[in-house]
Formats: sequence, structure tokens, C-alpha cells
Amino acid sequence: MRRFDAIVIGGGLVGAAIAYGLAREGMVPALIDEGDIAYRASRGNFGLVWVQSKGLGAPHYQRWTRRSAEEWPALAAELFARTGVAVGHERPGGVHLCLSRAEFAERRVRMEQMRRESGNFGFDYRMLGHDEVAALLPGIGPAVVGASFTAYDGHANSLALLHALHRGFVGRGGVYLPNRTITEAVAAPRDFRLGAGAEEIGAPVVVLAAGLGNAALAPRFGLSAPVRPQRGQILVTERAGRVMAMPTTTVRQTLEGGIMIGDSQEDVGFDTGQRIDVMRAMAHRAVLSFPWLAGLQIVRAWAALRVMPPDGVPIYDQSERFPGAFTANCHSGVTLTGVHANVFAPMVAAGALDPALAPFSARRFDVPQAA
Ligand SMILES: Cc1cc2nc3c(=O)[nH]c(=O)nc-3n(C[C@H](O)[C@H](O)[C@H](O)COP(=O)(O)OP(=O)(O)OC[C@H]3O[C@@H](n4cnc5c(N)ncnc54)[C@H](O)[C@@H]3O)c2cc1C
Repeated sequence: MRRFDAIVIGGGLVGAAIAYGLAREGMVPALIDEGDIAYRASRGNFGLVWVQSKGLGAPHYQRWTRRSAEEWPALAAELFARTGVAVGHERPGGVHLCLSRAEFAERRVRMEQMRRESGNFGFDYRMLGHDEVAALLPGIGPAVVGASFTAYDGHANSLALLHALHRGFVGRGGVYLPNRTITEAVAAPRDFRLGAGAEEIGAPVVVLAAGLGNAALAPRFGLSAPVRPQRGQILVTERAGRVMAMPTTTVRQTLEGGIMIGDSQEDVGFDTGQRIDVMRAMAHRAVLSFPWLAGLQIVRAWAALRVMPPDGVPIYDQSERFPGAFTANCHSGVTLTGVHANVFAPMVAAGALDPALAPFSARRFDVPQAA
């Protein structure tokens, strides 16, 4: 049996970020991934590093997201220095466009609640009228009533990010084991043995970061990860000259020039199909926001499944029954890459999650049994 310092199950953005962070801590981890048959949110997302709407009613999640956005620039620079892969991170701020007075009023209430809940930490936002938005994003349509803006927001090339994390992980001595589906595990405190393809591997630490696969894996390690799929569809146009100075929640321009339009939120189980009515609705709203988009051809479109916890807030946990087992689950894995690599991984390497992460435990879903 091959032994490692740690085993991370799941080579998507969450697992790769944690594995990279563990290798940076001096460990020799194995990173196991199911391969091309897998559901992979990390290969089908929208690429926002987004703060302004995260953590409503959950201030710990708001702080965690902000922390991640703060970690991002240094992580992007470090990945470039170590791997030569530019992840295209930019943080020019971002806007959420409102196309009616009702949307604008509802957004203001939401942003104000975010500010109230931030307490001493603070949350700086501005509600902008049409002309102020037009000054930031020339070419908006008359249907845009206004927008919320925060300087915290940004975006990145999430495929390049995944590539950089994998390359950086291997460069720091980590071992990548693709095309292996973990189905069997023997768990004991600080002693885990997994059947990975034809071989058995073992480690005193295991991190479940298998996205939607975590729901089935977690109970084997005394953990719970009740995540469900939520489908999102994305459209991409042909390349255009640099026209958008900052991303919006549902339309952004990549560094290469293509305009991405996203992203729907559909509860359709594990169906990764695309629907023309959903694509039409997304394109319609995008053209109302930016009428010039109507002149561009759509060149690609896809659907992918988000990894969605019941309340939308990430789940981070450590097993009480089998110390050494951890899990990480979230629906904003691009945004949270900063904390996964720079904050969560060092906690795992140190052997325990910081008590500040306790509100993220799946124990919040436990309901007392009726007497
Ligand atoms: C349409 C869409 C838009 C999105 N937009 C954004 C955005 O703008 N910003 C943002 O921050 N986030 C966004 N997300 C979310 C983000 O993509 C996810 O949070 C993130 O990719 C989740 O990463 P993950 O590693 O947990 O899961 P995945 O990427 O799904 O990876 C899980 C991996 O685990 C492996 N695996 C599963 N089961 C097993 C097993 N039993 N054994 C071995 N390996 C296993 C699979 O091979 C897979 O590679 C979006 C998601 C979607 C779908």
C-alpha cells in the first residue's frame, strides 16, 4: 500500500486548491480524481470572484468570501511565479444590474442588510443610477434602471486557475492520481485506507472535496455533506474588442474578448442538458442590459451542475468519529479558492479546523428528534 501525508478526494477547484495548499505546507498529498466521466462544476462555471451577494443572513460567510477575495491577488501572483500559468485575475469591482424599479428597490434592501450584518467589519456598497452605471459600463441599455456596486468583486479564467493549481501541486511534490473513483474506504482515527483503482493507498489525513460525490462519500468518514445539483447554463459570444471594464453578475467579458452570459439556476437533478427556452431568456436579459450584444454571434454554450448545500452556505467539517477526516463543499469554488489554498489547507495541515469555521459545520442541519 502506498502511503501519503494526506489524500484529497476530488480534483476540481476545491480539491486542487486544498491539495496545493497542503503541498505548500510541506506535506506530500495524493490528489484523486474520477476523470472525464465526472460531474465537474470546475470546468463549466462563470469565473466570477464575487463578493457582493454572498452571505446574506450568514455574516460568517460574508467575511469568509471577503477574506478569499483578499487572498486572491497574492495567490494568483504566486501561481504565476511557480507555474507560468496566468489565471487572468482582475479586481476592478463589479455591478449587479437592475432592470426595473422593483429590482432596484429589492437590491437596495439586500445590500443594506449585508451592510447591517457586517457589523464592525463593514461592507461598502453603492447603489448607482442609470447614468452612473453608464459611466462605468458604456453601452448599457435604457432598460437598466441602476445597479449595486462594490469594489470587492472581480473575475478570473477559472480553467487556467484549475490548470495552475494542478501544475503547482505537482511542482510542489504532490501526486495526482486521475481516473480513479473512490467507492471503498476503511476509516479509523488518523488512519484511512482507500481503494483507488487497482491499488490501495493510505494516509493519516483525508479531505473529501469530491463536489457532488461528497454526499455519498461523507457518511463513510463520519461526516455529512448533503449537497445537491443545481444546473447553470452559460452562453459565450465571439470575441470583441475590450468593451467591458468590469464584470456584472450575469454578463462579463473574458480577457480574450468573448462575452460570457450566465447563469441560470435550475433544479433538474443530475440532468446536464441544455434548454433553448432558458438560453433565450438569458440572452434576452443580456441584450436588454447591453443592446450591442445583439450584434455578436453565440459561439459556445454549455450546462454544468453546481454543488449546492441546502442553505447555499459552504459546508466545512472535521469528523469527530474519525479525526483526520475533513470535508469542503461550496457553490462558489472560484471565489473561495483564495481561502481554500491559503487558510483552509493550513488548518488541515495543523490537524484541526479553526473554531471560527464552526458555523459552517453540517451540524447546523441537525434537527432535534421529537420526543
Ligand atoms: C454554471 C456554473 C456557474 C458558476 N459560476 C461560478 C462563479 O462565477 N464563481 C464561483 O466562485 N463559482 C461558480 N460556480 C461554482 C464553482 O464552479 C464550484 O463551486 C466549484 O467548481 C466546485 O468545485 P468542486 O471541486 O467542489 O467540485 P467539482 O468541480 O464538481 O469537482 C469534483 C471532483 O470530484 C471528483 N469526484 C467525485 N466523486 C469522486 C469519487 N468518488 N472518487 C474520486 N473523485 C471523485 C470528480 O472527478 C470531480 O472532478 C459555478 C458553477 C456552475 C455550474
